[in-house]
Amino acid sequence: MLAGALHRSGIGVVVYEGEPSPDARAQGGLLDLHEHSGQQALHTLGLYHAFLTLVRPGEDAKRVVDRHGTVLLDRPGNAATASPEVDRGDLRRLLLNALPPEIVQWGRKVASVQGAGRGRHTVAFADGSAVETTLLIGADGAWSRVRPLLTDAQPAYTGTCFVELHVDADDPRAAPAAAVIGSGTLMAVAPGQGILAHRNADGSIHTYVAVNRPEEWLATALPITAAQIEVLFDGWSRSLRALITDGEKVPVVRPVYALPPLLTWPRVKGATLLGDAAHLMSPFAGEGANLAMREGSGTRACVDRPSRR
Ligand SMILES: Cc1cc2nc3c(=O)[nH]c(=O)nc-3n(C[C@H](O)[C@H](O)[C@H](O)COP(=O)(O)OP(=O)(O)OC[C@H]3O[C@@H](n4cnc5c(N)ncnc54)[C@H](O)[C@@H]3O)c2cc1C
Repeated sequence: MLAGALHRSGIGVVVYEGEPSPDARAQGGLLDLHEHSGQQALHTLGLYHAFLTLVRPGEDAKRVVDRHGTVLLDRPGNAATASPEVDRGDLRRLLLNALPPEIVQWGRKVASVQGAGRGRHTVAFADGSAVETTLLIGADGAWSRVRPLLTDAQPAYTGTCFVELHVDADDPRAAPAAAVIGSGTLMAVAPGQGILAHRNADGSIHTYVAVNRPEEWLATALPITAAQIEVLFDGWSRSLRALITDGEKVPVVRPVYALPPLLTWPRVKGATLLGDAAHLMSPFAGEGANLAMREGSGTRACVDRPSRR
């Protein structure tokens, strides 16, 4: 988003991306983009109408069930929702395709950054190469290599651990899973744990399992298998546990970390941060990607208001 905004303004920019290629990994679940942040950012870059073609209509439907699978709430999707849902991969492709390809250098994992005087910084890459910057913007997520230039703050574990699971669209188990989920997002919740699932645009099933566990658990229980996660959901209905055990891929464990709220730092010439690098927060706010997009686009800060529709 930021590279697009700078490029449109005629400012030369290079994105050093650690992943080896645009298709190196699936980008994860759906995002709902908010009117006054994520959507506003797309307007700024002239990408809003292209975004609308990627929106998953009705995907904002919500089904809430208890651990036995008893439906507590079944709210249909609203085609006119103010916060439409989009696949992360589709959104990233949209932003990438708006850039001349040479702007993004893939496989350029930053190993360290240090001041080089007069606001310049030396960025050293894992492949042994290095560049010197005139303005360095750390948009490198939770474990930013740029952040230590500005603050000693470190993300702290929030006590909740997410585990990401996936069922391929052509897997015969995807259809029964889709029936359990309904047309939008399924939330099966109980104190201290939950299962959140939805269908991706390609028909595959994406599930987040959330469990509250202390930090020591992370050290002893990981890596974890789907069968071991299922044990944590003993007594839950078979159809909900199937969302855990029926995945084809190895579970991806994502402990939830956050930076201290209202974190600030003294200005450092020639370096700044945006997105999770600046304000990593719990995903339960549903704001992290929206904020990162708003900052990247240069959209003036504003607060999301409830939809009038
Ligand atoms: C389970 C979960 C659900 C979420 N749901 C939502 C939601 O519904 N709505 C919402 O708005 N937000 C949500 N978020 C938050 C959202 O995903 C993040 O806030 C958002 O991705 C931040 O974007 P970013 O560009 O700052 O960082 P990232 O998305 O982490 O991107 C950082 C980029 O930098 C690259 N990188 C990292 N380190 C290096 C390095 N050393 N060298 C080179 N490149 C590097 C990475 O490969 C990546 O491409 C969720 C988060 C989680 C974990």
